[in-house]
Amino acid sequence: MNKSKVWLIAGLVLASNVQFAQASAVSQPKGNFVDKFRQLDEVLPTPNVYRNAAGEPGENYWQQQADYTIKVRLDEEKRRIDAQETIQYHNNSPYTLKYIWIQLDQNIFRNDSMSERTSTFNSKPDISLGGVDKPAKISLNQLRRQQFMADNELGFSIDKIADSRGRALDFVIVGTNMRVDLPTPLKPNQKTELAIDFGFNIVEEDAVGARSGYEHFPDDAREGGNDIFLMAQWYPRVAAFTDYEAWTNKEFLGRGEFTQEFGDFTVEIDVPADHIVSSTGVLQNPRQVLSNAQRERLEQAKKADKPVFIVTPEEALENEKAGTDKRKVWKFSAENVRDFAWASSRKFIWDAQGYQQGGNVQPLVMAMSFYPKEGGELWEKYSTASVIHTMEVYSRFSFDYPYPTSQSVNGPVGGMEYPMITFNGPRTILQDDGSRTYSLSEKRFLIGVVIHEIGHIYFPMIVNSDERQWTWMDEGLNSFLDGVAGREWDPTIPWGVEPRSIVDYMKSTNQVPIMTQSDSVLNLGPNAYTKPAAALNILREVILGRELFDYAFKEYAQRWAFKRPTPADFFRTMEEASGVDLDWFWRGWFYSTDHVDISLERVYKLRLDTQDPDIDWERRRQEEADKPTPLFVKRNQAEGRKTWVELNPSVRDFHDDNDRFTVTNKQRNAYQSFLEKLEPWERRVFERAVAEDKNYYVLDFKNIGGLVMPILLQATYSDGTTESLHIPAEIWRRNAQSVSKLIVTDKEVVEFAVDPNWETADVDIENNYYPRRIMPSRIEAFKYNRSTDHISRDLMQDAKTKLKSSETEDNNEEEQN
Ligand SMILES: [Zn+2]
Repeated sequence: MNKSKVWLIAGLVLASNVQFAQASAVSQPKGNFVDKFRQLDEVLPTPNVYRNAAGEPGENYWQQQADYTIKVRLDEEKRRIDAQETIQYHNNSPYTLKYIWIQLDQNIFRNDSMSERTSTFNSKPDISLGGVDKPAKISLNQLRRQQFMADNELGFSIDKIADSRGRALDFVIVGTNMRVDLPTPLKPNQKTELAIDFGFNIVEEDAVGARSGYEHFPDDAREGGNDIFLMAQWYPRVAAFTDYEAWTNKEFLGRGEFTQEFGDFTVEIDVPADHIVSSTGVLQNPRQVLSNAQRERLEQAKKADKPVFIVTPEEALENEKAGTDKRKVWKFSAENVRDFAWASSRKFIWDAQGYQQGGNVQPLVMAMSFYPKEGGELWEKYSTASVIHTMEVYSRFSFDYPYPTSQSVNGPVGGMEYPMITFNGPRTILQDDGSRTYSLSEKRFLIGVVIHEIGHIYFPMIVNSDERQWTWMDEGLNSFLDGVAGREWDPTIPWGVEPRSIVDYMKSTNQVPIMTQSDSVLNLGPNAYTKPAAALNILREVILGRELFDYAFKEYAQRWAFKRPTPADFFRTMEEASGVDLDWFWRGWFYSTDHVDISLERVYKLRLDTQDPDIDWERRRQEEADKPTPLFVKRNQAEGRKTWVELNPSVRDFHDDNDRFTVTNKQRNAYQSFLEKLEPWERRVFERAVAEDKNYYVLDFKNIGGLVMPILLQATYSDGTTESLHIPAEIWRRNAQSVSKLIVTDKEVVEFAVDPNWETADVDIENNYYPRRIMPSRIEAFKYNRSTDHISRDLMQDAKTKLKSSETEDNNEEEQN
């Protein structure tokens, strides 16, 4: 190879600075090499005929079906339900089943449940040897719960399990699961029937904390007050039998939610005649349970442009004053749902508005809200409106809302979702003058929770992911989309999906990867909601762009609607449909606890050598002259001290008139010969580069957080203009710790910034700027207070205090002491 060529190629890198060559070394340190771009196929399950390599349901995809017919009676006094259930179980799998596993979720409330026995207690006393002990703490809520659990018999009572001919079947209860042994094995494509008589005492939600239960309102005008009943996980439900896990019978510990089969439901709900029932499905007997006026209003609501009262606030208030011994049976049916929930109370106000969705799947959806007077104007204004807004946005990202109803019910549960029905907690506050107000945060809570829970009807009630294993698959995807819907409602509300929403969690040390089973996740909110939501937001806005992301996401939703996706199906679909390798993204965000912290460590500004010694050597002489003069020399000059040579000019010689940058013809000849040996194209390229004399900036980046991400670079030029450069994450593929990038430009750069708009969840903004910036913040003055701990109790004075009775309470007597 031509020597001058080597010099030219290396010229950019080596010519000006040896230090730079060191900083840009691309060698990986031995021993801790991590390939952040290693293909994920090694981790994901092998594709098969049930789930293929594209992330689609495979050619032999199957899932079971379970249809239910249930008659349930609510005993309001005893706060108990008793029911008869028939399950038609269709074995669509290629396997023969000897038994069927049933979920008995109410058993989690038994004192001997695994959940109760493994609950932990974290408050400890601080026992001091020299001073005063600090006691451990237990909240009154914890004591209330403990007392409720001790006073009530909870969990399912299973009175009978029989087959279609009434023969009793053997069963074994294992915690929150029950194995029912079939008299004859159930072959593929056969169905069988189970009849189960069951009942249980309903938990008081405020005491126990659950996804369903009753709430008592002691202050209502009716003698003894009223209740709202929210009923979910209320019937023995068939456990899912799947191609990837067989029976999904992992114990219910409270956190990991539910894994269900789709099926059709017919449910008769027998309640006090003055109750209003909201339920999964469509009411089958409106003539028996609704008044003429109510049915007419429902008819009007279908075409209304705002919610219409079916039960007005005045009617509900009247209703909650009395009570009745009469009963009504509400019949509902629901098709192709994975669960069934309902709510009942005489306190309910009911409003409805038809959502004209169009299309041929479900052109008209009834959006409805049920709430007590405590929900008030907050619910009247925002609940049903939020239901409709959610469907508009979610359908754009997935598929038309497929069910005939979409409901929001107020009760004691803060927020929980079921097919066609959601439970949402926010309320108004009763003021002393009898009016009801609501705070801004309660308003945001209502809009946010309704969007979130209605959104869950899409994920996971239709895109039926396995909640017991992966909370993120429904909560993460749903939080991402509720953020889209939420910001379309009001972008000033913090929706918790912006990259900046996750940085504090990302840099924390006590965390597990998103890909962790639901019950073992630490910090469930940030881990399973915010982090995946922010990650998907970044994937959409920064990495794929909206067009590619939205296409792939919709493809995922449509492929898996009414089917059962796993994480691999999501990862594969998003890659396959977008055409972008995202293995590094899933690895970094979902399988690791790395965070994003890219530092712009150093920037070099380089100038291309011309190779012409008359130019280059003069430049170097100037560089030398620009360096600071040693202090010694400066001070000697200041003192007027002359050098020997200055004092004795006669000793000057050739070397005093030339320096190491003096150019001779030897160098000039070498330059000519260098030019002559260049190929014509090489010479053109070289001479053009010399003529243009551009600025060569070399930027050293360091990956401090470990998570590889695109580098969103912004250059600010001396003329005030800015320019952005999106460097894909693949720049880290050969070295995930440090990389250097060459930027060639005519302009003078005054500042480089990484991610100036906070799009990547970079946890440390300070190291994103070169040159570094001074960080503006605040400082607060405070008044120094002497501690009063040691004189908190003045016994001599306190002993004079008179005993307060309830009559003297208001007359401020103690203040006169
Ligand atoms: Zn949720």
